[in-house]
Amino acid sequence: MAKIAFIGLGNMGSPMAINLVRKGHEVTGFDLFPEAVTRLEVAGGKGAASAEQAVTGATIVISMLPSGKHVADLYTAEFLSCLEPGTLIVDSSTIDAITARSVAAAAEKMGHSMIDAPVSGGTAGAQAGTLTFIVGGSNEDLEKAQPILQAMGQNIFHAGPAGSGQVAKICNNMLLAIHMIGTSEALNLGVKHGLDPKILSGIIQKSSGRNWSLEVYNPFPGVMENTPASRGYTGGFAVDLMTKDLGLAIAAGTEIQSATPLGKMALDLYLSWGAAGHGKDDFSSVIQFLNQQL
Ligand code: NAD
Repeated sequence: MAKIAFIGLGNMGSPMAINLVRKGHEVTGFDLFPEAVTRLEVAGGKGAASAEQAVTGATIVISMLPSGKHVADLYTAEFLSCLEPGTLIVDSSTIDAITARSVAAAAEKMGHSMIDAPVSGGTAGAQAGTLTFIVGGSNEDLEKAQPILQAMGQNIFHAGPAGSGQVAKICNNMLLAIHMIGTSEALNLGVKHGLDPKILSGIIQKSSGRNWSLEVYNPFPGVMENTPASRGYTGGFAVDLMTKDLGLAIAAGTEIQSATPLGKMALDLYLSWGAAGHGKDDFSSVIQFLNQQL
């Protein structure tokens, strides 16, 4: 069993770290919020008072942080010098590919190895240990990481060299934002015409409009149990995080002149909804924003 340091115990990191504990790994976690550290301790992990303390003696470091800035700020030369020689770093945050590549190069210079391994599957997938990992890095490092990733997820894809996991992930999330908005638009339309949202969702699930937002993460309150929509849009994937991912996708498109018109529209909608005070709500709450448009 591995000795793992886990940095960032938020909506995703917390259940991922707890799954590692359940599979018998020795996990020491750190988060800026002490309550998040306590949650890991209650589940049988160890808490640390700093990232430096968490990595002492660990052979694997996993980070699950909000953005590229957080990742770059964590993996400074000073912090990398605190790691055990030859540590494998797995960054599962969704960030820009440029930061992912530069942090991986800095880690390598200090004698460590690093993969970018962003995830898909949401908080429910993190809790159930069924996440999809989308990996960028070498075959050898992915092979080393496999047993650890398998303890938290079901599907592991190798997208290519360092940074490729992040590129694939933002392609996925841009599409997710677009079909969440489309699903919300369709459900609002049907309900305003007097349809029951559960019946309408059931119809579309067996028709050509079916998609993940509708089938797994329905944005209409009460249609599905255990979705953010059915608990006041809490505990899911924040509007601010989706806004970040859409920004990354559009920047990546601009970089190589690949058109992203729907991605840009989705970004505008999410920016407006975040600016209206809903940045911390789950991204499926965009259905409420659309309800107010007219
Ligand atoms: P979150 O905001 O719930 O958690 C992030 C945690 O990182 C917070 O608890 C914060 O205190 C902690 N943190 C920030 N800086 C830190 C530091 N220097 N040291 C220690 N802890 C620090 O976010 P989340 O929803 O868990 O998402 C994390 C990442 O996963 C993001 O990049 C997001 O885009 C991605 N993601 C989220 C989901 C989802 O459904 N929530 C799904 C797939 C991917």
